[in-house]
Amino acid sequence: MHYKDAREIELMRQAGALVAEVLDEVCGQVAPGVTTGELNATAERMIASAGAEALFKGVVNRAATRPFPAALCISVNDEVVHGIPGDRVLQTGDAVSIDCGVRMAGYCGDAARTVPVGVVAPEVTRLLQVTEEALQLAIAEVAPGRMWSEVAARIQQHVESAGMAVIRDFVGHGIGQEMHEEPKVPNYSDGTNRRGDFRLEPGLTLAIEPMVALGDAAVRYADADAWVIVTRDGSFAAHFEHTVAVRKGGAEVLTVARSAALN
Ligand code: MG
Ligand code: MG
Repeated sequence: MHYKDAREIELMRQAGALVAEVLDEVCGQVAPGVTTGELNATAERMIASAGAEALFKGVVNRAATRPFPAALCISVNDEVVHGIPGDRVLQTGDAVSIDCGVRMAGYCGDAARTVPVGVVAPEVTRLLQVTEEALQLAIAEVAPGRMWSEVAARIQQHVESAGMAVIRDFVGHGIGQEMHEEPKVPNYSDGTNRRGDFRLEPGLTLAIEPMVALGDAAVRYADADAWVIVTRDGSFAAHFEHTVAVRKGGAEVLTVARSAALN
């Protein structure tokens, strides 16, 4: 694992601020009638004008038939992650997960939010609330010396006590000069994944990203491209993510807008 010094964390703050600004703008644009491709175009423009690199664009995965084609992953309703922006028109009642990653001056930021489109079902409102709470709770639990599994157990407990399920096939990750660094950062801890557990130490930078389903946690590929991941049972999913640095006093969230970071 690579522990970052103060200079590196400052560069990650700058990348993180851009991610937050993109998400603020794009989430504000979400409305019935807007296409996911339009949301992506906003992100592409903002990232390019900041002189940054869109991290997801061009990513190759072993199963996929083509590199990921966009700056944002936009995953709607039963899509969990890695949704591809395009002609899909958002409709009232949808829940849209927007994931943004950038590299700027050599360092990365990665964050995601799920937002409602118009009026959504009460259980969907609850899903978004519980998933965001799980992320905030995890951030509050981060402290030097603690094992990640203790934090992960709290995420899992919060989600399951609400009658929802933690997605297990995708997890958070270390982040720095690369989008994906060691360690893996799962959102559950039940004894089956103890081998990859790690201690939270100052300088560790992590993307913490609970993904939650209203129904069952099982997922599958939705498309022949082998990118888009959906719940097997068709239930809605939500995704909230922040890049954080472990500091002496706890977690510092790096994916926040710069004006907010200065307060
Ligand atoms: Mg992400
Ligand atoms: Mg991530």
